[in-house]
Amino acid sequence: MIKRPLGKTGLLVPPVGLGGIPFQRIDAEGTKAIMARALELGANFIDTARGYTVSEAYIGHGLKALGRDNFILATKSMQRTREGVLKELAISLSDLGTDYIDLYQFHNVANFSDYETLMGEDGAYQAIKEKQAEGVIRHIGISTHSVDLLKRFVEDGHFETIQFPYNPMERQGEDWFKKAHDKGIGFIVMKPFAGGAIDHKELSLRTILHNEAVSVVIPGVDSIEQLEQNVLAASPLTPLSKEEQATMQAEADSLGSHFCRRCRYCLPCAVGIDIPMVFLMEGYYTRYNLKDWVKERYAGFEKKAEDCIDCGLCESRCPYHLPIRDMLKQASAVLD
Ligand code: SF4
Ligand code: SF4
Repeated sequence: MIKRPLGKTGLLVPPVGLGGIPFQRIDAEGTKAIMARALELGANFIDTARGYTVSEAYIGHGLKALGRDNFILATKSMQRTREGVLKELAISLSDLGTDYIDLYQFHNVANFSDYETLMGEDGAYQAIKEKQAEGVIRHIGISTHSVDLLKRFVEDGHFETIQFPYNPMERQGEDWFKKAHDKGIGFIVMKPFAGGAIDHKELSLRTILHNEAVSVVIPGVDSIEQLEQNVLAASPLTPLSKEEQATMQAEADSLGSHFCRRCRYCLPCAVGIDIPMVFLMEGYYTRYNLKDWVKERYAGFEKKAEDCIDCGLCESRCPYHLPIRDMLKQASAVLD
């Protein structure tokens, strides 16, 4: 894979890296094995987060065996205050088993008041700037799902990287990626498969990587096979043929815009419904004709779509503003 500059950080990153969410589903040894293969393939950019529970610790286990300096390590924190972020940074450093982090990001900044707290006098940004001066943090970035915030981050120019969702179904930030690129801001793509909704994964990765504003895309993997498939999409990177473009477009049209990206920010539900899993089952039932398999699995769900009490709590948390209650009613009509 031909490496790309991560904005003006001076770092060269592979176009395809590793997202750390699925490591939570495996174990420390499995994570190390994936990291080892990633290193062989040149995919040595890893993105994780304090919020991904054991992910940092598993990655730390891999780093110990494979060599810390062989990887470009990015993590993030949901903390917005000085005190909160310094506590989380200490845990990240300890779990990762390192004394420096290449890229520290403020995770999922969701609204302007969140951003103001972050940038304020006792905010997390100032604390991390100080850690940067000490050499503990090499570069500082930010992530969001909001286009309004993306615009603001590009305009303000405080961050060396921005992480944002991007795939053939979610092109809402595209104009701003170019502006970010022109300003020398590294652009990290999350949700390259729309949270698992996209089936044509190779086509999606190639579509994303043909945008020159993209520095690195970070699909999460929980197996070496998935990693190899992702890396293959960029080795070498070829443009989509007319037929491939039509295939990708047909899938985008079939999903529309009201689909769940499985980010899980809506949870916990007031009554314990696993909202993204319900939507996943509905998709398998309606789009993939796996009716018997879905019915069997869904029967084992403790809480079902029909148990929703219409409180709206989940909708206030969904970064995509999905009408979750209406969507659950539709899912219930199919599954319950
Ligand atoms: S609206 Fe329904 S799904 Fe959402 S939190 Fe309330 S009970 Fe759960
Ligand atoms: S409903 Fe919204 S918040 Fe919940 S997993 Fe789906 S996209 Fe994420």
